[in-house]
Amino acid sequence: MHSIDTIYIDGRFVTAHGTELFDLHNPATGAVTGRVRLADEEDARAAIAAAKRAFPAFSRTGKAERIDMLHRLADAVAARRDDLLDAVIDEYGAPASRAAFMVDHPVNAFRETAELLADYPFLRRMGTAAVSMEPLGVAGLITPWNSNAGFICGKLATAIAAGCTAVIKPSEMSARQTQIVTEALHAAGLAPGLFNIVTGRGDRVGAVISSHADVAKISFTGSTATGKAILRAAADTLKRVTLELGGKSPTVILDDADLSQAIPIAVNAAFMNSGQACIAGTRLLAPRSRLAEIEALTKAAVEAVRAGDPRDPATIVGPMVSRTQWERVQRYIRVGIEEGAVLLAGGAGRPDGTEGWFVRPTLFTAVRNDMTIAREEIFGPVLSILPYEDEEEAIAIANDTVYGLQAYVLSGDTARARRVAERIVAGRVLINSLTHDPKAPFGGFKQSGIGREYGSFGLDAFLEPKALLGEGV
Ligand code: NAD
Repeated sequence: MHSIDTIYIDGRFVTAHGTELFDLHNPATGAVTGRVRLADEEDARAAIAAAKRAFPAFSRTGKAERIDMLHRLADAVAARRDDLLDAVIDEYGAPASRAAFMVDHPVNAFRETAELLADYPFLRRMGTAAVSMEPLGVAGLITPWNSNAGFICGKLATAIAAGCTAVIKPSEMSARQTQIVTEALHAAGLAPGLFNIVTGRGDRVGAVISSHADVAKISFTGSTATGKAILRAAADTLKRVTLELGGKSPTVILDDADLSQAIPIAVNAAFMNSGQACIAGTRLLAPRSRLAEIEALTKAAVEAVRAGDPRDPATIVGPMVSRTQWERVQRYIRVGIEEGAVLLAGGAGRPDGTEGWFVRPTLFTAVRNDMTIAREEIFGPVLSILPYEDEEEAIAIANDTVYGLQAYVLSGDTARARRVAERIVAGRVLINSLTHDPKAPFGGFKQSGIGREYGSFGLDAFLEPKALLGEGV
């Protein structure tokens, strides 16, 4: 049993003032594996005060010093790779292949941000003005459970690059992963208060961070509903707010696509991270002229997706993170059937031989874009095929959503794919690939969020331009 009762404030592990206990589970079995003592409002205020005290000195540090810090943090997290890998599998249920990415990505985030910082122009001349990009102040970083270490480290890296100090509120469901990351970050030996980590409930610790007058900036990743609550809470003090929220990403297969390449991409796009991915391509738009072929190939591919023990290297889909998440996905599968979608693979219930929070990789066809399963984010391994007549209709369906985070276009003609991609309203559109580039902006149109992370746009979001004009400038 893992017992976690400390939070990290002002460079020290301290016992939380909060007394509420929260059970940690192994989602592959449903068993309780530990307990975390949650921080409360008073802990959040203490963390904010520590970050505020640390800000004046830290904001005056130079590039070289911050680059050195980022590399120290990367080394420190890399040194805990094995522990983190174990926790990511046990506590989150990530399949081993995905888990490896999830423990390497946070290390890379520090290194990539160090590289970005080296080239970032903090001082610019604009007309007669000397413009400097100034750190905003204390940043509140609020993160979800589906890539815990990656979000903590990615957001912290950017805050540090900008010269902001941070209060981090990770998901309560990831407390063990957070504990390991916190120990690693502590080992890097940064100044006290520069970053503080308080695991607590969103409606208590998160709410204080989102509304506190001494927090200048919020960077949030999570659901659209929570993003809206944070935006409202942040309005009174006019915080700068970056929101990375949900998605209902379309994967558009054009009629000239080589299906032997397109279908594996489409299925991976849907089931990555066990379907618990904001960028999951959950609406597969198929040309009616090739519908039967696409249905048959996708059904075979989905039936071949292995769901089960996350430690088995053949597993693609691990368990859902919690019973609540499992029940939510089961409900969507039932609603899909009730609303008339045709089940091609999977369905309600658990895969054979599993006892934890596993979902059967599920494929629907004959899905219309006004059905619930085509409109709402399911956050599980459920893929829907939506037939379309022609390219115009495909683009219209792709854009007929309140979200706009990511899209995929698959075609034998890259120029044609690019023309379609240019008309899809999404923060990122991937053509014939599942690639990621940390220098490219990441974030959503419409209700998928506000602002961007990664690259220079991500760094801009922690800074405010200040212009000096007149004599001596
Ligand atoms: P969530 O919104 O329930 O929680 C995210 C974080 O916000 C948690 O730390 C939670 O404790 C906190 N929180 C909850 N209520 C709060 C409040 N009132 N004030 C402040 N903080 C509060 O999301 P989740 O279930 O942890 O994560 C899944 C969601 O995250 C999905 O919708 C997914 O699409 C989204 N997501 C988006 C991205 C992206 O980059 N766009 C990436 C990953 C996940």
